Amino acid sequence: MSRPSNFPPPFSTRDYVAEPTDPEDERIEVGVLVVGAGPAGLACAIRLGQLIEEQPELAERLGEVPVAVLEKGKQPGSHLLSGAVVDPRALRRLFGERFRMQDLPSYGPVHGESVYVLTRRSALPIPPPPPMRNHGNWVFSLSELGRFLAEQAEEAGAMILPETAAQKLLVSHGRVVGVRTGDKGRNREGGELGNFEAGSDLVAKVTVLAEGTQGHLTGVALDRFDLRGEEPQVWELAVKEVWKVAKPLDRVIHTMGWPLRTSKRYREFGGSFIYPMGEDMVTIGLVVGLDYRDASLSVHDLLQELKTHPKIRKILAGGERVQWGAKTIPSGGFNSLPRELHAPGLLLCGDGVGMVNVPRLKGIHYAIESGRLAAEAAFRALQRGETPATALSSYDDAVRDSFIWSDLHEVRNMRQVFGRGFFVGGALASAMTMSKGRVELGKMRAEPDAEQPLLLTDRDKGYPAPDGKLTFDKLSSVFASGNKTRDDQPNHIRVERRVPREVAQLWAHMCPAQVYEVGREDDDGTVMVDLAPSNCVQCGAITAKGGRLTPPEGGSGPEYTVT
Ligand SMILES: Cc1cc2nc3c(=O)[nH]c(=O)nc-3n(C[C@H](O)[C@H](O)[C@H](O)COP(=O)(O)OP(=O)(O)OC[C@H]3O[C@@H](n4cnc5c(N)ncnc54)[C@H](O)[C@@H]3O)c2cc1C
Ligand code: SF4
Repeated sequence: MSRPSNFPPPFSTRDYVAEPTDPEDERIEVGVLVVGAGPAGLACAIRLGQLIEEQPELAERLGEVPVAVLEKGKQPGSHLLSGAVVDPRALRRLFGERFRMQDLPSYGPVHGESVYVLTRRSALPIPPPPPMRNHGNWVFSLSELGRFLAEQAEEAGAMILPETAAQKLLVSHGRVVGVRTGDKGRNREGGELGNFEAGSDLVAKVTVLAEGTQGHLTGVALDRFDLRGEEPQVWELAVKEVWKVAKPLDRVIHTMGWPLRTSKRYREFGGSFIYPMGEDMVTIGLVVGLDYRDASLSVHDLLQELKTHPKIRKILAGGERVQWGAKTIPSGGFNSLPRELHAPGLLLCGDGVGMVNVPRLKGIHYAIESGRLAAEAAFRALQRGETPATALSSYDDAVRDSFIWSDLHEVRNMRQVFGRGFFVGGALASAMTMSKGRVELGKMRAEPDAEQPLLLTDRDKGYPAPDGKLTFDKLSSVFASGNKTRDDQPNHIRVERRVPREVAQLWAHMCPAQVYEVGREDDDGTVMVDLAPSNCVQCGAITAKGGRLTPPEGGSGPEYTVT
């Protein structure tokens, strides 16, 4: 059977690395340039503001714009989507005395939890395994938290530039010197429209990439500076919905089992989360490892199926869906981290480099902590008498000494063991958890998601028909993401357009936003892949499964507010 990796996309890292091209007096100069207004990037900007406040003389050396944050979404938060049950350690360190947890825009601390193993009709409660215990954690909407953090970053002196995609990495004499932003106002063929605006060179003393999952320039930087780790990165795809409900949910819920299949043959790893958001909202999501093999698997439709389970239907009864979204989660863990987290002029943070604790489904506190540590290293690099290279490499040391490193080391093979099937994987994962990572399973190899050979079943025949109340089709889901992307933009999805039918079917089923359709068949049995790129919600799944997502025009994509 085909493997998507046999049909690589027309994409070359070289096209996204450039010298600055704008004349010197037209370049926008900033002190520290942060790419991505997620928890990592905003924590970095906030910490830089705090440090500059303590040492105002340095601000002068950083120029008119000491700190700038680029964000491709319509506004900070527009592209943020998470659970989000947050471990408060990193927020407490970032804000110190300035804010208490109860001052932040949250839905309060977790009051209780349940874990169920589902079959089609039943739900067997089991004691929450240690990684799923959430006592002491707080429930947030990451999109709302992002807006709050952006306000704090601006108050601390950062300039936030929304609707601005970082398109190319500017490298001069082997050192990262900033980024080039994408053009705006081009038509499908690349021609200039009346409102055309060329991108700009933003040059900086230090560039921090905090792009999150499937970060475009992070991937470019890992290749350009040969930073990739020993093991390849792998991902999960999560699709989630926020519901207004009639009855408050009093605890966080996780489920395992149905609607995923447990047989090793399918390689289906994942589970669901259902979190309370105050008195009248809940969020429900399904997470599935992208190393699955069945080309008919659709996480969007499995989430629709999950909602028909009697246990879950009851939670949503009388309610209404208010938002929908999708995003990938890096899940290779410790063994897939890059060899180094810095390069000349550059620091890498958060999900972009895979700082996620898979069994705990948590990465926000690692993103915030890595952003804070990156700010301290960038600040050190700007001090008189410091050698920038040594100062930037101190970021790696700081991450290795932090809870990010020890936590991820403890669960280092957690994702890989599930390649052995649900039951064997579950047993190995329990052994690792109980021993706090001391059980040596040897380094387990991760196989890239796109290298899994495909099989095709009729799984899609069982997906529930959309009723517009409990279950929905993909296009109404895209509408519920707030996506209003212009239809005639240049195509930002790089995929091989002529592929075997099962590869085209894989992409069509996988994409939660109905971007791909199986087109015309040729005499040699291959089919054309038809694309509707403006539906894309930039979840990143295509990069894991054989294509490549690049950032579209700034301001496009979903406009999440409560995800
Ligand atoms: C469904 C789901 C549930 C989760 N549940 C939890 C949970 O309960 N608790 C938890 O702790 N973690 C959870 N996580 C993981 C957590 O959300 C991430 O670890 C965290 O958001 C990573 O933060 P980040 O700042 O690195 O990246 P992100 O949050 O992805 O932010 C990156 C930002 O950078 C912007 N950006 C990217 N590229 C560019 C570019 N080239 N130019 C300009 N802007 C760019 C993006 O638009 C985005 O705003 C979950 C993730 C998912 C998907
Ligand atoms: S086209 Fe966009 S929404 Fe669809 S899988 Fe790719 S990144 Fe996700």
